Amino acid sequence: MSKSELTKLSLEILEKLSQASEVTRITYEGPAIAIYTKSPEVFLTDPTLISELATRFKKRLLLRSEPDVRIEPEIARDMIIGILKETGFKEAEIKIFFDSIRGEVHIYLPRYVKGDIIKQVTIEIAKKTKWIARFKTYHREVPQVFKDIYSALLFGGRDKISQRILSNIGDRIFRQALNPSKDIRITGLGGVEEVGRSAFLVETSESKILLDFGVKVNANKRSDFAPRIDALDLILNDLDAVILSHAHLDHSGLIPLLYKYGYRGPVYMTEPTLPLAVLLQEDFIDITRKSGLSTLYSEHDIKEMIRHVITLKYNQVTDVAPDIKLTFSNAGHILGSAMVHLHIVEGVYNILYTGDFKFGQTRLLDAANANFTRVETLIMESTYGGRNDILRNRKEEEMLFCKEVKKVLERKGKVLIPTPAVGRAQEMLTVLYNYIKKEEREEYKIPEVNVYIDGMIEDANKVHIVYLDYLNIRIKSLFRETDENPFNVDYIVPISKPSDRDEAINDPDPAIILSTSGMLQGGPVIEYLKNLAHDPRNAIIFVSYQAENTLGRRIVEGEKSIDLIDEDGRITTVNINMEVLKFDGFTGHSDRRQLLGFVSRLKHLLKQVYIVHGEVSKIRNLSGTITQFFELPAAPLKMLDTVYLR
Ligand code: ZN
Repeated sequence: MSKSELTKLSLEILEKLSQASEVTRITYEGPAIAIYTKSPEVFLTDPTLISELATRFKKRLLLRSEPDVRIEPEIARDMIIGILKETGFKEAEIKIFFDSIRGEVHIYLPRYVKGDIIKQVTIEIAKKTKWIARFKTYHREVPQVFKDIYSALLFGGRDKISQRILSNIGDRIFRQALNPSKDIRITGLGGVEEVGRSAFLVETSESKILLDFGVKVNANKRSDFAPRIDALDLILNDLDAVILSHAHLDHSGLIPLLYKYGYRGPVYMTEPTLPLAVLLQEDFIDITRKSGLSTLYSEHDIKEMIRHVITLKYNQVTDVAPDIKLTFSNAGHILGSAMVHLHIVEGVYNILYTGDFKFGQTRLLDAANANFTRVETLIMESTYGGRNDILRNRKEEEMLFCKEVKKVLERKGKVLIPTPAVGRAQEMLTVLYNYIKKEEREEYKIPEVNVYIDGMIEDANKVHIVYLDYLNIRIKSLFRETDENPFNVDYIVPISKPSDRDEAINDPDPAIILSTSGMLQGGPVIEYLKNLAHDPRNAIIFVSYQAENTLGRRIVEGEKSIDLIDEDGRITTVNINMEVLKFDGFTGHSDRRQLLGFVSRLKHLLKQVYIVHGEVSKIRNLSGTITQFFELPAAPLKMLDTVYLR
């Protein structure tokens, strides 16, 4: 929709509304349309006003209050607490955060409140403060990462500059297209013939879109750390959008760097991806500092990113450029992970980028979506795409895992499970919960021992609880129906500071320790490894992918003596006498069978497949099989190769 169409639409909307609605203007807000009013309470009292307009004009309409009329946040906070106290909440339980870009106040309460009460309270808050309230529930406390996000969104509270960010993005999305969208092309900038630093540039003659912008933490040289955007003749502000598939650092890690170098456009992601990505980016800076290296970007750049984030729900079709529509759908990999579907309007071309995806059920998530009506080009990951990457089914894998854990605990040993903080950690806690609390068969039942969790796992757990809607139905109802759940159970002991690690290491009883990082590239897991490796009663159990050149991979491949460098530069040699085990079946990636199954589901739609995000031999092998088996052109996408899509 062009500017002149917006003006026409504005006039029509204004005509439909009464004077009492006090609408001041209608503008773009990113890809949606915002109706600004001095009296948001009028619309909140009668929600049909907006929904009828949205249906009539087939647009996503958002209600916003005029920044001038909003009460200062500090004063509004007291007023809101006053209103909520009347519904029975104590002051200390009510957590309030302001988003001055959207004029929203997010209120976190420790208990779920009925819809009709929420409606009344929202109207009253709007009447008195002119802020529009959104309610969320929290367990125990609101995670720190949310506080960091809100502090980036607060600005001066009533600052007009803040909401200009989103209207500028809208102006750009809905600009008059100057070029026909021909010459659709993709360039691999990272995550091609490797795992790490995923980044792909999608271009038409009208627009440019970046898919993911990750970091390769296990790079041999620092120059291989980042996607090769430097090799292109690209001005960052010529990008129409950055689209993030999921929070893991190998996809999200360097997005703040784009803002550091002046990019001021939008970055699209799902709702849970924002806090998870910020959590991992903050930790990435922290770990880099601790290892004595200079950081690539600062907290300031993360804040700039947060201000430009537009969150979308699954299956919500959104304009991101004059000729491109984006739709996210469930990727089944981690909380909020998305497959990216791009519909190029003119010429009607469709690209599906899987990101990391699991075409199979896990304890936490539903299998990745495979219902698409149009996909001509598929860009697919292949982490477990090798000839031998046929994984055991989940049930079998869980039972074998439990038997091994049980054995270690029975010989009075400790089980160390290195895991990424987001995704696999929650999956493993859920597996443990089932075999500690619910299992009845003696051979699989894991004794109830302390389960220590370290390095941001607890923070990531809390984010999962805020976004239960993104988890599968079984786990959702488990969390909603009882207080005890896989993240909140007596045996879990979160380690909150380094000095507490001794408690876990010296626990006189057998215990299980889950700690980051998953590939032993730094993080607290190193401390545990140092202290537990000498004792053959202990075991280290890998449950996630171990990339080439990582310490994890070396140990899996049988190295028995490793040198570790301390924070103060001293070298310690550690002998690995502990048992080393590896279970691939818990992966959040599709195995070879699932990858081929996914291609098979889409094959009647596809014209070609590009394979990315895997080791060279696996990518070649998988491409070969797809070409042969489905008679479908499949090839690796190569570094800095540009392929034209037809
Ligand atoms: Zn991932």
